[in-house]
Amino acid sequence: MDALRKALTHARFLSIAWLVVVSPSAMAFIFADGTHADCIARGATVMEAEASPGDVVYQLGRVAIAAPTASGYRIVWNTNKLKTLPPEMHDFIFFHECAHARLPTTDELRANCAGLKEMRSAGKAGFAVEAKLAAFYGPRNSYWENTLTCANGGKDGAGASQ
Ligand SMILES: [Zn+2]
Repeated sequence: MDALRKALTHARFLSIAWLVVVSPSAMAFIFADGTHADCIARGATVMEAEASPGDVVYQLGRVAIAAPTASGYRIVWNTNKLKTLPPEMHDFIFFHECAHARLPTTDELRANCAGLKEMRSAGKAGFAVEAKLAAFYGPRNSYWENTLTCANGGKDGAGASQ
């Protein structure tokens, strides 16, 4: 009897663990070096989810969409596209999307600028990494040049840095 109860308890534990592991495509961002980060905005963890094929992020061909929800922000990742990015860009896009939630803003330059500043603060940017990011955007790319001007100047292009 005791063994049966133990077995049942164990089975219940396993089913709960299974639910936690596969619960609705929630995901945590893993950097190229294998470390993990949460996006924190106004003291709360921003929910991240893996998009299912057919989701708008796939339809638009975007890597991710950060969008407001009733309770904050949510980042939906196109993991198929994310994993095709070079490691520096793969990591930068986390800071970019998180910046949308942190500021908050829908402005791409402000998100890029704040994201780069945050990436530098996290010790994940710097000359070598930023040279790779510049190469990804392409020579004399005005979006990247404006991002650098903003991040180096300590302003974010529209007034607020956080
Ligand atoms: Zn963006």
